[in-house]
Amino acid sequence: MNIKITKKIGDTNITADIEAGSDLAKALVGADWLLNAPKMCSHCKSANIVFSGRKVIAKQGENVGKEYYYAQARCKDCGATATIGKLSDGTGYFWRDGGKFEPYTPKNQAAPANNDIGDSDIPF
Ligand SMILES: [Zn+2]
Repeated sequence: MNIKITKKIGDTNITADIEAGSDLAKALVGADWLLNAPKMCSHCKSANIVFSGRKVIAKQGENVGKEYYYAQARCKDCGATATIGKLSDGTGYFWRDGGKFEPYTPKNQAAPANNDIGDSDIPF
């Protein structure tokens, strides 16, 4: 038995053909990300979301230079994103934090480095 799931995420129709074989539950775990795709931004409640991909290159740690790819839903109104994670055994995907959208934070508004302490701030 195969399961065909068609879902609309933002303006994208996604169709997945899933081989259920004799294990329906296992097939549904693999399709969970699509079955539970968010219909609206949990941050601003807009339905103006788009399905997209994102590439990140590690800049520190033992995997410097390693490329990571993420699938996500992004709100076109506020920029918040909900990211899809991959099950550790590779059998499927899921919405991180249950599909909760994380607010967009511009890079120049990231937490400032604590480098504004001058010599005059050091007690004698
Ligand atoms: Zn939003």
